[in-house]
Amino acid sequence: MQGSTTHRDIRSLSVDELTELVRTLGQPAFRAKQVFEWIHQKQVTSFDDMTNLPKQLRLQLSETYTFHVPTELASQVSRDGSRKYLLEFADGVSVETVGMPSRKKLAVCISTQAGCAMGCAFCATGMHGLTRSLTAQEMLDQVLHVAHDFNERVTSVVFMGQGEPFANYTETMAALRKLNDPDGLAIGARHLTVSTCGIIPGIRRFSQIPEQFTLAVSLHSAIQTTRNQLMPGVKKFTLLRLHEALQEYTEKTGRRPSYEYAMIDGVNDTNAELDALVDFCQGTLCHVNLIQLNNVADSPLKPSAPERVESFQKRLQMHGVETTIRASRGNDIDAACGQLKQRFRVLKDPVKGSNEEL
Ligand code: SAH
Ligand code: SF4
Repeated sequence: MQGSTTHRDIRSLSVDELTELVRTLGQPAFRAKQVFEWIHQKQVTSFDDMTNLPKQLRLQLSETYTFHVPTELASQVSRDGSRKYLLEFADGVSVETVGMPSRKKLAVCISTQAGCAMGCAFCATGMHGLTRSLTAQEMLDQVLHVAHDFNERVTSVVFMGQGEPFANYTETMAALRKLNDPDGLAIGARHLTVSTCGIIPGIRRFSQIPEQFTLAVSLHSAIQTTRNQLMPGVKKFTLLRLHEALQEYTEKTGRRPSYEYAMIDGVNDTNAELDALVDFCQGTLCHVNLIQLNNVADSPLKPSAPERVESFQKRLQMHGVETTIRASRGNDIDAACGQLKQRFRVLKDPVKGSNEEL
């Protein structure tokens, strides 16, 4: 990070504010446009990178403004080439981000909150509660960090790291739009995926927007009692209501949501669970992702046997429900789904309750 953290981030200035700023510095108006382009189109993170600005102006700007780019506290590389980063923001709060390369593609998994208030039983993030929600800029900064580290164009982003995106709806939407912006990173809307644990007001709002962003829903059980145990934070959004909201979503958007289902031995992989899952999905527009549960330290929950996962897939497909078994990336570095948590460092000053009203 450059400069003092008390300085305002230059990237938070609107075009009008930038115009006013260059005017007060006695510079011609076109300088504002240049600064704006460096920040929002070329996504630079230092004044020195703004090479067409006079040195004096760069110096003046850096005296009052800064770039609050996150600091990389640690990183790990997986055997499969994935890289996990622990990134710290200006206030000392840190989150994890993962970059997943494959052939000519680079997918990034970002966090939307530091921690999570939902408390899902199988998820490492949920075990320590919520520290705070992230800003859109902090989400974007995670993507930029990975792009710079790999020195490659990011082709897709999944909002599947720490946190619940729909508990931080406004900032999540702003981040999606920035990533999609043709003058910014220009990542296609279909390559931007938001994963929610099933917050219905969020799904409803998401149904109304014009962009074709992709929706993933963490289902994990289609039996209410099991789901309540696994995902206590979304008890009030019952499966019945969730089903209705998803129907409405597919009718309004014509898009196909995917359902995440992490298979847990003896918990959600029984025949009764399979019947309920088939009922939930059959005849609806959806795609099921079966995930073998990733082990989480200190958790009694264990992954289902691979044969069980395959038999779930076969049965679902027999009923016309498109189903894939998702290979986990970065398993050896704890970067796979649900394994993201601050292993490296204890957080400073957790502030509870910065979820948007649900
Ligand atoms: N809060 C959002 C997005 C982050 S979690 C959500 O719950 O959807 C990202 C994905 O990882 C979700 O599908 C979540 O259910 C899954 N997940 C969490 N813990 C897991 C684990 N131990 N094994 C496999 N998947 C897990
Ligand atoms: Fe939060 Fe998602 Fe983890 Fe549940 S699975 S605790 S909603 S991050």
